[in-house]
Amino acid sequence: MNYGTGLVYLYQSMQPAAIDDTGREDRRMNEALIVDRHPLSQQILRTDVSGMPLEWVDYREAARLYHTGQVAYTCGTTLYRLYGGTCASTGLRTVVDVNSIIATLGHTGNPGNLRGAAYVPPLNNQTLFRRDGYLCLYCGLRLPYGQLSRDHVTPFSRGGHDVWNNVVTACRRCNNAKASRTPEQAGMQLLAVPFTPTYAEYIYLKGRRVLADQMEYLLAHFPRSSPLHERLLRRQCGRVASRADDNCA
Ligand SMILES: [Zn+2]
Repeated sequence: MNYGTGLVYLYQSMQPAAIDDTGREDRRMNEALIVDRHPLSQQILRTDVSGMPLEWVDYREAARLYHTGQVAYTCGTTLYRLYGGTCASTGLRTVVDVNSIIATLGHTGNPGNLRGAAYVPPLNNQTLFRRDGYLCLYCGLRLPYGQLSRDHVTPFSRGGHDVWNNVVTACRRCNNAKASRTPEQAGMQLLAVPFTPTYAEYIYLKGRRVLADQMEYLLAHFPRSSPLHERLLRRQCGRVASRADDNCA
């Protein structure tokens, strides 16, 4: 795949520096683009050349990677086709088909390649709640982000730490009821065991809107024993069941 020098125009027309706070330049830039199938906000899954998931990138970064010749191969489906202007030196119009998954060259130190417990992803509520499927792991209620909290299974006051395998998603009511006690002391039972995500699992948890082909790709990189396999399957079944209910209603 060779997009030639025409990509220079596209890349230059998409420089983040061309955007100001008013969004004026942003609109002008979008006029140069025709978008297919997906909104430009759809993220692209970037992997290293061996196929290990690396990060999510936006269309500007993807265009830069194509332009600098760093895209080794692509997987998944075409998300959108980006059109630039006509390159003065070649007279050719720039076109880039951006795929949902792109494998790139020249990246070293992919945390996903570390073996054993060497990599621990940063802990934050967004990825924690996603890990637990937005369920309170005490009462099982599924709640929106704003109504959830981070519970320390073994509280700080009893020597617990703020680490992935000591934290679970909890509704505020359960968190208050448990207070500074362990689940045993509070007579509460955890519905699932907390775990530290691997790098590939963490990439999934960080994804804003993960497409089916990106999901399938990431799932293949989860450990076989990953609790996310079962949780995602259960959620999928739940969605199918609720759609069936909607149809019956
Ligand atoms: Zn609860």
